[in-house]
Amino acid sequence: MRILVVEDERKVANALREGMEAEQYQVMLAHTGEEGFFLFNAQRFDLVILDVMLPERDGFEILGAIRKMGSQVPVLLLTARDSVDDRVLGLDTGADDYLVKPFAFPELLARVRALLRRGRLEAPVRMKVADLEIDVTKRTAMRNQQTLDLTAREFELLEYLVRNQGRVISRDMIAHDVWKEGPRHTPLDNVIDVNIARLRRKLDDPFRTKLLYTVRGVGFILKDGSE
Ligand code: CA
Repeated sequence: MRILVVEDERKVANALREGMEAEQYQVMLAHTGEEGFFLFNAQRFDLVILDVMLPERDGFEILGAIRKMGSQVPVLLLTARDSVDDRVLGLDTGADDYLVKPFAFPELLARVRALLRRGRLEAPVRMKVADLEIDVTKRTAMRNQQTLDLTAREFELLEYLVRNQGRVISRDMIAHDVWKEGPRHTPLDNVIDVNIARLRRKLDDPFRTKLLYTVRGVGFILKDGSE
């Protein structure tokens, strides 16, 4: 489980990292909102722990930006003030839970475990992007009520793109998350490009609107082209 911690107080951030690494979580630290948002865009996380009071862009802004991208990643807010306004604003902006500082570490761990569990339970079975609908249990994909004839790998790739819809996905992320490959000498780029091309022929070519786009030099994005 990969956790992003965005916290400008280094002592708190380091203590969180140490404690969570001892529980076998993988932790990345960011010390500003800007850095946190950058890391969030560059890597995959299962959970974000976000301090509200941050230099530059504060936690509410970062949370708003994460939700605007369409990400449903669980977010735990850390708030310094026990103010009702902050809590309401946080939950309205899309936080899943919050903790008021100072907090006891075991309480944070309990919240983290609960959020990760909930995230798994609520992972949607059917997802939609424009007229595309995929069913993760049946492993079927339909566009405009026509079933797409996908290989197992093409379906996994499509599911990954749908889960990250509206977000640019790099070849490294696909290698890591779909092919489950660590860093290697010969990158999988060619294999990925071939699979993307095949997927595109089935997903987009027969239809009027395009969903899968190449972002030159970066990767790919699946989005509702009519928006
Ligand atoms: Ca702070």
